[in-house]
Amino acid sequence: MSHPSPGRVAVLGAGPAGMAAALGAIRAGHDVTVYERYREARPAGNILNLWPPPLKALRALGVDTVDLGAPTDSEFRNLRGDVRVRVKLDQAAKDEFGGGFIGLLRPELYRRMLEALPGGTIRFGQQVERIEQDDRAVTLHFADGSTAEHDVLVGGDGIDSLVRRTLWGDAPKREHKLHIFGGFTFAEVPGTTPNSCVLTHGPTVQGSWTSIRHEGRDGHQWWVLTACDPDAPAPADLKAAATALATGFPAPLPGLIAATADADVQRWVLRDRPALEQWSRGRATLVGDAAHPTSPYAAYGAGMSIEDGYFLGVALRGVDLTDAAAVAVALQSYEDPRKPHTAQQVQQAYLLGKVFHHAPAFLRPVRDFVFDHTPFLQKVAGDSNPAMISKQLALIEG
Ligand SMILES: Cc1cc2nc3c(=O)[nH]c(=O)nc-3n(C[C@H](O)[C@H](O)[C@H](O)COP(=O)(O)OP(=O)(O)OC[C@H]3O[C@@H](n4cnc5c(N)ncnc54)[C@H](O)[C@@H]3O)c2cc1C
Repeated sequence: MSHPSPGRVAVLGAGPAGMAAALGAIRAGHDVTVYERYREARPAGNILNLWPPPLKALRALGVDTVDLGAPTDSEFRNLRGDVRVRVKLDQAAKDEFGGGFIGLLRPELYRRMLEALPGGTIRFGQQVERIEQDDRAVTLHFADGSTAEHDVLVGGDGIDSLVRRTLWGDAPKREHKLHIFGGFTFAEVPGTTPNSCVLTHGPTVQGSWTSIRHEGRDGHQWWVLTACDPDAPAPADLKAAATALATGFPAPLPGLIAATADADVQRWVLRDRPALEQWSRGRATLVGDAAHPTSPYAAYGAGMSIEDGYFLGVALRGVDLTDAAAVAVALQSYEDPRKPHTAQQVQQAYLLGKVFHHAPAFLRPVRDFVFDHTPFLQKVAGDSNPAMISKQLALIEG
C-alpha cells in the first residue's frame, strides 16, 4: 500500500458520530479538525445503552472502555411481569465486550471519547453556515465570516444536518408521534436486580429501566414512552408526567422515578428521516444521525454513529485525499455496507414504535395475545435483531 501525505479532514459536529469519525480519520493517518458550534461537547441527553459492536469499535478507535457502563441482560415483559423476549447475545461477545448491552450515562462516553482525541482537534464555538465544494477542495463558511479549506468533509452534525441538506436537499422529518421521558438515580430502590435491562409494555405505554455504571458508581436509568402530539407543548412538570405514565407498572419503575431528582428528568419528541439512497457526494459524506437519524426504540443511534466513524476511518486508510476520484471511491466503499444495516435498524425502530403505541384499541388485545403466547416477538426482538447487530462484530478489527 502506498503512503500518501496526510489529507486534511474536516468533521462537522462533536457528537458520538463526529468524535468517532475524527478518531477513525486520525488513525488512518490524516490531519483532522472537528468544528463544533457549542462551546463544549454537550451530551445530547442523559440515558444510554450500547451494544457490543460499538464497544468493540470504541476500543479499536483507542477509547478506554474499561469499566464503562453496567453489563446487562435484556428482557421484554408485559405488565404482569411475564417475560415475552430474552435478548440473546453470544456469550463470547458478552464476555469480551463488557457484558452485552451496557447501561451508562452519556457524559462519561463523551469524556472518554474526548480524552482519546489529541488536544486541539476540536474547535469549539464554530458554527458552520455554508459549504461549497469542487474537484479540488471543500470550503466551510463560518458564522463569524471566516472560511476553512479541507480535502474531505464529514457531516456528523445530527438530525438537522447542514451537510446532508447541502448535499441532498431539504426534506421534512418523519414524526413518530411519540415522546419519551428519561432519567437516572443512584438511590437504592426496592425491586431492582443487578445487571438487568427490563423493557415492559402496557397497552399504550412502555416503561423500562436498566442498571447503569457511571464514573465508578452503580445506579439505574429509566424511561417511559407513549404517543403524543408532536406540536403540543412539553408538560410543565416532566417528573409528574413520567410518574403518571408509570402508574400500574411493576416495581422498581415507579420507585426509580420517585427517587430521581427533577433536574435529572428529560423529555424528547421522537423523529427520524426516511433512509437516503446515497450519503456521499464528491468530497463530503455523512455519519451518525446526519446519515440515519434513529429512534431510541433501537437504542442504537449512538452505537451506529460510533460504528460509522470506525468504518469511515478504515475506508480512508492509505488514500491520497487530494485525488478527487480516490476520495469518491473511498467514501462509496464506506457507505455501501453501512446503508442496509442502518436503514433496517431505523425502520425496525419506527415500526416497533407504531405497533406498541399506535395500534387501534380494537387490535391491542390481538397484538398482546400474539406477543404473550407466540414466539413472534422473541424471533424479531430476541433472536434475529441481536444476531444482525452481532454480525457487525466480525467486521471490526481487534
Ligand atoms: C431519549 C434518547 C435515548 C437514546 N438512547 C440511545 C441508546 O440507548 N443507545 C444508542 O446507541 N443511541 C441512543 N439514542 C440515539 C443517540 O442519542 C443519537 O443517535 C446520537 O446522539 C447521534 O449522534 P450524532 O453524533 O450523529 O449526532 P448529535 O449527538 O446530534 O451531535 C451532532 C453535533 O453536531 C453539532 N452541530 C450541528 N450543526 C452544526 C453546525 N452547523 N456547525 C457546527 N456544529 C454543528 C451539534 O452541536 C452536535 O454537537 C437515544 C436518543 C434519545 C433521544
